[in-house]
Amino acid sequence: MARPCFFYTDALLDYNLGPQHPLRPVRLRMTYDLLESYGMLGNAVEVVAPERADWEEVAETHSRDYLEMLNRLDDGEPVRGMQRYGFGGGDNPIFEGMYGASLLYTGASADAAQAILDGAGGGQVAFNISGGLHHAHYNSAAGFCVLNDCAVALRRLRRKYARVAYVDIDVHHGDGVQELFYTDNSVLTISLHESGRTLFPGTGFTHEIGEGDGEGTSINLPFAPSTTDEVWLEAWREAALPLLKAYNPEAIVLQMGTDTHELDPLAHVCLTAQGWLEAVKDVRDLGRPIVAVGGGGYNLTTVPRMWTLAVATLTGTDVPDEIPASYPHRGAGLLTLTDHAPPSVTARQTETARQFAAQSVAELKTLFFARYGLAS
Ligand SMILES: [Zn+2]
Repeated sequence: MARPCFFYTDALLDYNLGPQHPLRPVRLRMTYDLLESYGMLGNAVEVVAPERADWEEVAETHSRDYLEMLNRLDDGEPVRGMQRYGFGGGDNPIFEGMYGASLLYTGASADAAQAILDGAGGGQVAFNISGGLHHAHYNSAAGFCVLNDCAVALRRLRRKYARVAYVDIDVHHGDGVQELFYTDNSVLTISLHESGRTLFPGTGFTHEIGEGDGEGTSINLPFAPSTTDEVWLEAWREAALPLLKAYNPEAIVLQMGTDTHELDPLAHVCLTAQGWLEAVKDVRDLGRPIVAVGGGGYNLTTVPRMWTLAVATLTGTDVPDEIPASYPHRGAGLLTLTDHAPPSVTARQTETARQFAAQSVAELKTLFFARYGLAS
């Protein structure tokens, strides 16, 4: 098939942490509907229903004890000892069907990686907006994430490619993915995020560079609250993007969390949709195959716009900024794809954010540039 694969089925909405939880499954459907309104489904992308991930494959990323506990929780009833595996708190409540729903979003990322390996739809990009659950650890659930689909996709890509990269533009540190490949130099992890000093999960400092064989393949670019487009993009292009190019990966998993947006209720970075999109373009322009997964994003007026922009950008589709009248959720905040009002940030906040980013950039240059043969 000539069109990039977009793995989606409404069954993905069953990954539902409850009515009070900020991770609202409807954001996936709202994105799907927006792509549909733009006429992109069946044109820019081919919608393909994903399969559940294979247990044995997931067991390369998570402990068998953890997966067995997850399986036992599938009927939504508490099981003794579940807290030890991160289940049952406010962030990761248990729910009926959790095991199957987790395997499905993870399978969608594995399928997207396989589409790249098979050259499906041109082999340049494949999508799973229900994925990007980057906080899940080897042995525990965390930060709304049960299974680390990003890691499963990276491992699937590794079946063919010697060197792959993970690029994470979610506002939170991609701690689970970093940890899972911390000693592995065949996977470069790059995470841009609000500093762990002010935001969950409290990690992602520049000095976390990997260990053993993996030393020098874990890159963290932290930012201060109120960071805006220009500061974020300049730091990305000055410190992280050159390292990504120098590593020269054969394929990339791009985690496209949209909670970096100013309007996101869970974090404090202040990007616009179009500012964030510039980093997506930069990754596209490397010309490597991309598995594009979702991630955070808790404002229902920003997620559908930003993921539609990303799908359009990564598939080379021109879309008018004005959201079509046929879009069922059209309304305040969902009238145009890009933002038309600048973030409300003071000059003083911007100066603080600029200094913080400059410090992060300087630290990354010191830690990595000579290692990658780059001049500071
Ligand atoms: Zn996030």
